[in-house]
Amino acid sequence: MTKLHLTDLLPAELSDYVTSLGEPKYRAGQIFAAIHGRRLTSFDEMTDLPRDLRAQLSDQTTISTLRLESRYLSSDGTRRYLFKTHDNLPVETVFIPEERRDTICFSSQSGCPLQCTFCLTAQLGLLRNLTSGEIVEQIICALNDAYGAGVETPRGTNLVGMGAGEPFLNFEALIKAVRIMKEPAGLHIVPNRITVSTAGVAPKIRELASTEDRPHLAISLAAPNDELRSELMPINKKWPIAELMAACKDFQASLKRGERFTFEYVMLSGVNDSDDHARQLAGLINRHGLRAKINLIPHNPAEPLPYQPSSLERVEAFRAILDAAGIDNFVRRPRGRDILAACGQLAARSDVGQPVLIPGQ
Ligand code: SF4
Repeated sequence: MTKLHLTDLLPAELSDYVTSLGEPKYRAGQIFAAIHGRRLTSFDEMTDLPRDLRAQLSDQTTISTLRLESRYLSSDGTRRYLFKTHDNLPVETVFIPEERRDTICFSSQSGCPLQCTFCLTAQLGLLRNLTSGEIVEQIICALNDAYGAGVETPRGTNLVGMGAGEPFLNFEALIKAVRIMKEPAGLHIVPNRITVSTAGVAPKIRELASTEDRPHLAISLAAPNDELRSELMPINKKWPIAELMAACKDFQASLKRGERFTFEYVMLSGVNDSDDHARQLAGLINRHGLRAKINLIPHNPAEPLPYQPSSLERVEAFRAILDAAGIDNFVRRPRGRDILAACGQLAARSDVGQPVLIPGQ
């Protein structure tokens, strides 16, 4: 792609570009608001800009780089989008409508270099890091698909960086995307409404602790001891649990009163869901004095992964042990399982069900 991707620019960068064309600064504000606030995807629609400027912009720059390849609609209303980048790599995004808010799960990489054994994305390997603009575009495309370009969204939007990829291996682009999205003239999704999940890149957890305008932190744990965790999440060999807990402790010290972070614990039947695992998990959190909440996520089965979700009874027994140890926990309800849109199921697959044309579009 040789054209400048305007969606990738912070307001100050856009301003530099616009003034380099000999245009007044305020034009940058108009363009930023058109791309991020009104979510317009073509220069023709920006009728508040002079015609020759629009022509120049469309000559030199681009707004949309992601091409929608297919979309899938779940029986629970969840939508999964499979996009292709300009260099033909898959990017997946999930839109989850809820009564009082929408949640969009975005990807930070195409594929993923980590080899978590319970996750289908791992099978793609790393294709490449996404740019900030490609991260922001996922949100714009999902909102436009749900509500139409230029239409105000009826509910607030929460974002979770839990799609394909390890966000902390693409840290700079991620944080820049967060800054672009928080702008009041743009999407205006503040960092407080964003949660980013890491498999445990300890140095970046520390870097996040000292980052201004940072999103909330979630850490995928999946096991309470090194032996099992290294088996399920090989990144544990690089940053074992003791190092991860030390980074969490440092992160905790940076939290404001009332703020917390989360551990995600995928529950794999017969693998990490015994009473003993629950006791080990509670011991780990309490021993390190962490005020974290634990999200229990029954595994979302996906061929050919060899796991099954823990039964409801098992999840309840596991919870009871965490409750008794005073650890706040929550069971995450799966969304979009039937279209491979749930946690751990993203692998750019188009062989599940039929792509669905969404009525009215
Ligand atoms: S769980 Fe996350 S970090 Fe692990 S392989 Fe899947 S996408 Fe990558």
